[in-house]
Amino acid sequence: SRLAPVTVIGLGPMGRAMAATLMKAGHPVTVWNRTPSRADELVAEGAQRAVTPAAAVAAGELTILSLTDYQAMYDILGPVVEDPQQAGVLGGKVLVNLSSDTPDASREAAAWAAKHGASFVTGGVMVPAPAVGTPHAYVFYSGPKEVFDVHEPVLRMIGKPRYLGHDPGLAQLFYQANLDVFLTALSSLLHATALITAAGVPAAKFLPGALTTLTGIPAMIGDGLELARRLEAADHPGELSTAAMMGATADHILRTSKTVGIDVELPNAVKSHYDRAIAAGHGSKNWTALYEVIKSRS
Ligand code: NDP
Repeated sequence: SRLAPVTVIGLGPMGRAMAATLMKAGHPVTVWNRTPSRADELVAEGAQRAVTPAAAVAAGELTILSLTDYQAMYDILGPVVEDPQQAGVLGGKVLVNLSSDTPDASREAAAWAAKHGASFVTGGVMVPAPAVGTPHAYVFYSGPKEVFDVHEPVLRMIGKPRYLGHDPGLAQLFYQANLDVFLTALSSLLHATALITAAGVPAAKFLPGALTTLTGIPAMIGDGLELARRLEAADHPGELSTAAMMGATADHILRTSKTVGIDVELPNAVKSHYDRAIAAGHGSKNWTALYEVIKSRS
């Protein structure tokens, strides 16, 4: 049976990985990139090179966009819809934007696409480019369910789809929330390593143990459902791991960071959470009481 022709616009590491994965699955793939040379390898492997963005969109049953941000989509497709000769090109088309941006940018883009007659699905790829198309890959999606359902078999090639709902902002919201965890953990690993090496101890003596700390967190959190319940109920039973005890440690980390002369922004931020939670009377509660100061800007 004939597999759907797919267009990929944006050939950074991510777009190239997606195009290659779809080609391997047997889909006819058309590509376009602002810097044309980034398409060369894919074209050599059998991808169709579109000469213009309009030709690219016209060639696909769906068009996947993998760009730095949503502005890049307007930079590419804005001139198309403004040109009377090409203006109808988006009509009846399906755009799947897998670029990172804010939830509001996704919502605005869905309205923009609708204005030009296109359906719009938003997504966030949750694995690095080399993992695209592997069993580890998963992708958050949001937007019109009926459109998503039609194209789900194609999107499944990139990674396991996790459809979140009709609101186009949801996929970016989930993408960002997960990257909030990811980026903060990565910065903390680098900061902790700097704390060690500033004392003249090799990083290799530290990092394997730090990974034990990091991978020990899931056991502490469980499946997340009890934590979710506690956070939403403002229920922070104390005794073990109180905010006061953890806050003292946060202070020690900050002071040591200052002493050895490394960056203090991250430990400052963490200590500030504890300071404010304790000041608000949560010192004898569980560390989860930090949520009370984190969930609203003071
Ligand atoms: P790159 O920054 O390497 O590629 C960005 C793409 O956007 C390139 O094709 C670039 O074109 C294009 N682009 C940027 N600005 C413009 C513009 N103004 N006009 C036209 N084209 C533009 O990113 P990646 O491929 O790594 O990532 C793409 C998206 O996927 C990002 O949103 C990223 O957050 C997300 N992502 C990436 C992951 C990864 O591991 N790489 C992991 C998860 C998500 P040109 O080649 O001409 O510069």
